Amino acid sequence: MQLHYDQETEAFRSDLRAFFEANLPPPEERAEGVRSSAHIPEWARRWQRLLFDSGWLVPGWPPELGGRNATPVQQMVFFEELVRLGVPRSCNPQGLSIITPSILDYGTDEQKGRYALPTLRAEISWCLGMSEPNAGSDLAGLRTRAELHDGHFVVNGQKVWTSGAHDADFCFCFVRTDPDAPKHAGISVLVIDMKSPGIEVRPLAELTDPGHADFNEVFFTDVEVPGENLVGQLHHGWAIAGGSLAHERGMLWISESTGLERIIERVLATAVTPLPGGRRLADDAILRDTVARAYVQAQALKLLGYRGFAKVAKGKSSPEHSVLKLLGSELRRNLALDVGEALGPAGLDLDRNDAPANTRGGDQGWLTHWLQSFSQTIAGGTSEIQRNIIAERVLGLPRR
Ligand SMILES: Cc1cc2nc3c(=O)[nH]c(=O)nc-3n(C[C@H](O)[C@H](O)[C@H](O)COP(=O)(O)OP(=O)(O)OC[C@H]3O[C@@H](n4cnc5c(N)ncnc54)[C@H](O)[C@@H]3O)c2cc1C
Repeated sequence: MQLHYDQETEAFRSDLRAFFEANLPPPEERAEGVRSSAHIPEWARRWQRLLFDSGWLVPGWPPELGGRNATPVQQMVFFEELVRLGVPRSCNPQGLSIITPSILDYGTDEQKGRYALPTLRAEISWCLGMSEPNAGSDLAGLRTRAELHDGHFVVNGQKVWTSGAHDADFCFCFVRTDPDAPKHAGISVLVIDMKSPGIEVRPLAELTDPGHADFNEVFFTDVEVPGENLVGQLHHGWAIAGGSLAHERGMLWISESTGLERIIERVLATAVTPLPGGRRLADDAILRDTVARAYVQAQALKLLGYRGFAKVAKGKSSPEHSVLKLLGSELRRNLALDVGEALGPAGLDLDRNDAPANTRGGDQGWLTHWLQSFSQTIAGGTSEIQRNIIAERVLGLPRR
């Protein structure tokens, strides 16, 4: 079997590479000041605006939305290149990849003009208010309450793990508008201005980088939200939740498989560099075996992704996609753990920035990388929930 792209797709890839080569902000500029997933530093604002104006921000969309009507295969190539280069399209990923598509699907024309376009042009940033202390995997159990009084909503309750809430201009917030309805009904979505009186944002310290918080708790006390900020129909927010997460997952498998390949490249670079005492990971027989296995698994993941993608492109359903997030995130975490173990004490040295294990391990060093690798097995649906979905919806096993 031969796997290759046609000439038109390769021409698309060449155009994209030429654009990146000519315009990519230099690494020293990119390293500057990204505080959270809703903080857009000046260089990132300029970069995203350039992508929007040039039709490279969301290639599958029409030019007026920052795209070029790219085919599904071209979109896949676009994501492959993006992950390969390790460059973000946006410093507010939830705004670009989850919230904007949801507003375009469900919002009014006024909301599209007021929120979707400025988000695409990097003029405003967002946080996503889904999870609550008792509603994560069971999102439909959310209790943050919004009552309609005289044309505006009054919101009371709490969100948690809200990435970037301390820097966001707006929250795309899932609230309960009908407490008497069954739990999947009675949920609505509101756009909440984060500067509204009654909002308190408390950043949560993170083990990966104690001085840098992305997660927050967000408390709402009698927060007034104009009725026109309702997205979609009242009490019909559950469909938006499903759609939002589907947007998040759409091309995720490419990040998983290409991301794993990039990590393997980093392992190889670390492996040939002498550690303190002269030891090299490349001489560790167990690690060599682990890396070889990870490489094979990365290729299998990619092929599984292509197969699923081919089905989706033909309008069929793809059970493959259900296993890609689970496999990809767990493979990355396991590889990070194995490399950490092979490094031994050298891999635990967070304080010494010049420690080979840190500087060669990737942008953040192996310890941080390992700690962060757990997050992808949780965000957007935990591994256990993915297994439940595969068991029930793909294999047809009895519901729990
Ligand atoms: C990097 C990252 C960014 C995030 N950003 C945001 C954000 O911006 N906005 C937002 O709203 N949320 C965000 N989250 C939160 C995320 O959506 C939740 O953490 C996730 O849905 C899991 O919910 P939980 O943490 O409440 O865990 P729980 O649902 O309480 O689960 C705890 C444990 O129990 C297991 N479990 C739960 N139910 C079942 C079941 N039925 N069967 C088997 N096992 C089960 C889970 O797998 C898990 O191991 C983020 C999370 C991460 C890691």
